[in-house]
Amino acid sequence: MKQVRLRFAPSPTGYLHIGGLRTALYNYLFAKHNKGKFILRIEDTDRSRYVEGAIENLIESLNWAGIEYDEGVFVEDGRIVEKGDYGPYTQSKRLDIYRKYVDQLIEEGHAYYCFCSKERLDKVREEQKVKGLIPKYDEFCRSLSLEEARKRIANGEEYVVRLKLPHNRDIKFHDMVRGDISINTEDIDDQVLLKSDGYPTYHMAVVVDDHLMGITHIVRGEEWLSSVPKHVYLYEVFGWDIPVFVHLPTVLNKDRKKLSKRHGDVAVEDFMAKGYLPEGLINYLALVGWSPEDNQEIFSMEELIEAFSFERVAKTGGIFDKDKLDWVNGHHIREYDLDELTKLATPYLKKAGYIDDKTIEEKYDWIKTIVETVQESISYMAEIVDKVDVFFKNEIEPEDENALAVLKGEQVPIILKAFKAELSEIEEIDEEFAKGVMKKIQKSTGVKGKKLFMPTRVALTGNSHGPELASIIYILGKQNMLKRIEYVEENFLKD
Ligand code: GLU
Repeated sequence: MKQVRLRFAPSPTGYLHIGGLRTALYNYLFAKHNKGKFILRIEDTDRSRYVEGAIENLIESLNWAGIEYDEGVFVEDGRIVEKGDYGPYTQSKRLDIYRKYVDQLIEEGHAYYCFCSKERLDKVREEQKVKGLIPKYDEFCRSLSLEEARKRIANGEEYVVRLKLPHNRDIKFHDMVRGDISINTEDIDDQVLLKSDGYPTYHMAVVVDDHLMGITHIVRGEEWLSSVPKHVYLYEVFGWDIPVFVHLPTVLNKDRKKLSKRHGDVAVEDFMAKGYLPEGLINYLALVGWSPEDNQEIFSMEELIEAFSFERVAKTGGIFDKDKLDWVNGHHIREYDLDELTKLATPYLKKAGYIDDKTIEEKYDWIKTIVETVQESISYMAEIVDKVDVFFKNEIEPEDENALAVLKGEQVPIILKAFKAELSEIEEIDEEFAKGVMKKIQKSTGVKGKKLFMPTRVALTGNSHGPELASIIYILGKQNMLKRIEYVEENFLKD
């Protein structure tokens, strides 16, 4: 088989949508599975939608997600650079190339100049709507002679170039997800190929680039499916091989609507900011629209590359289920290296005001223990802030009636007194003390099991459940615990 070449071709209009990341991922997985090449091309021919910084943002999101590409547009030392033998990979740098192919189409009679004003086109569209017709260009300029058109251009008239589609012809193509598709040219516009600003439209640029860049498989969102006949016709008149088409179902929310910013997080950067792991987001996204042969749900990138195929991509929209994402991401958090996780958690703890640079420098193991206490229970890193606030509050109140009842227990004053006695024996708490102190209190008070542990836990944290007691003791430290115990003694014990 000839080497496969795939591309992800985003337009720099802002941020990378989660659906875009999934498109990039499927391209990447298929390219890697087949030991082919993956290319990042920037489609920036619509200058009105161009957003400053969007290319850098896109690339940062792909890098974060671990989606590596072989050719295309990269950021190096803060600068945008191009790499690869088929460049430039930014469409605005390829205007001469498109111009050449547009000229060829005109020469061969497959395209024509059009001078219709926006006002005229609007009027035509309005009239068609009133008649209940689907709005379409009325081919007003199609019969102009080339000579006449060139004269008008020489006179400085503004123009566009349109594709001259044959009338009443079925254009057929195959899509790996949707199967065989046939569309009649009567239902398609004479598409603008070159705009009056000299830029090509998406349709012209995409066909020329995919051909010149040797793309073998075009994998993109299904919103482009209806454009394929125009592209197929262009391939045909140029005499070029038609690539394999794979149109992916749209990523939907739980109400089966398109995922949009109004309904919460949709940008990859939103998930980065919340502290999702790239491993978790990628794993979950792979499953939105694709399913493996067995019921496996947790995948590493390597396993995805191994298992992925287009045959198992679904026809209908993939539902983006945040709860499922949280479950998958939580799974990856539990398997993560604790030092790595600590590194990821630190910014959140710092932002919450729990730690500062000095803490990070001097008490790394302590921070690591804090992270360890939540590794089993968080779904993404930002959740750590609420989960560990119990260690950083000044005053601890029993969380509910039950917790309060625990503190009213007969033996609680004795336990707390013994606890304070143990604390007075030491300067500061180390792990050994934290692990051994409860045994000592058991010995000195004769209280054991739940009767001993529960009141201690509630006195120190206000909660009946939570991290291991030894971790709580180690993290809180001597002064904190003394303060908490005294507060409980003054306010909550049985009279
Ligand atoms: N530039 C298009 C987009 O951003 C890409 C379409 C394609 O992959 O052909 O959606």
